[in-house]
Amino acid sequence: MALHKDDAVVLRRLDYAETSQVLAFLGRGSGQVRLIAKGIKRGTKKAFATGIDLLERGHLVFTHTEGHGGLGTLTEWKQTEAFLGLRAKLRHLYAGQYAAEITAQLTEEGDPHPELFDGLVTLLRTLSTDTDPLVAVIRFQLVLLTAVGLLPMFDACAACQRTTSARALLHFSAEQGGLVCHDCEPSVVEKRRITAPLAVALTQRNVPTALAAEAFSLLDYAISYAMGRPSRLGPYVVGQL
Ligand SMILES: [Zn+2]
Repeated sequence: MALHKDDAVVLRRLDYAETSQVLAFLGRGSGQVRLIAKGIKRGTKKAFATGIDLLERGHLVFTHTEGHGGLGTLTEWKQTEAFLGLRAKLRHLYAGQYAAEITAQLTEEGDPHPELFDGLVTLLRTLSTDTDPLVAVIRFQLVLLTAVGLLPMFDACAACQRTTSARALLHFSAEQGGLVCHDCEPSVVEKRRITAPLAVALTQRNVPTALAAEAFSLLDYAISYAMGRPSRLGPYVVGQL
């Protein structure tokens, strides 16, 4: 059986039967990889003796096998980066978990995006410091949306494609895929209003800290629309819960 190796980050961990877990990883060269780790909870397997934490990075070794609903098998995991700092503060941890949630939802197996992997590692490193998590998470939202081909249009009307002043682009429609001008807005059903300063900031691709919460919630809205459900952790990132 061929062994595959990759540099990966743990996105998700679910119990499976009594002693096993199903883990979702983002591999730099493999994209999302879902694997079964047999016997992991018994702790008897040397390869997993220290357990596997969410949001840690490591060297992943796995096989593609039939059975287990098409899941491959995790054969080895060696942690290389623990991002310990992000586990010390609740908002930083929520921000990391939010990134894991939206990445797991919007990426597919067998569709690698190395730049997304690099963006995730950069985010987790930033979240391990004292920096305000919101601006870093916004940067990651943009990297993810770009990687999966869903980056909204911010420099023209997404409905009529006309370039216009940012002050005429005061609505956002996830279905249309970007900002919508005041001529098109009445005929667009799914939309939300944004403030003029945010429209300007998005058009210029430069979101100041003062607008970070509004920008985050707009991008989270676009991401939730793409996922087909509201993000579970988004409200925790902006501190609404
Ligand atoms: Zn328009």
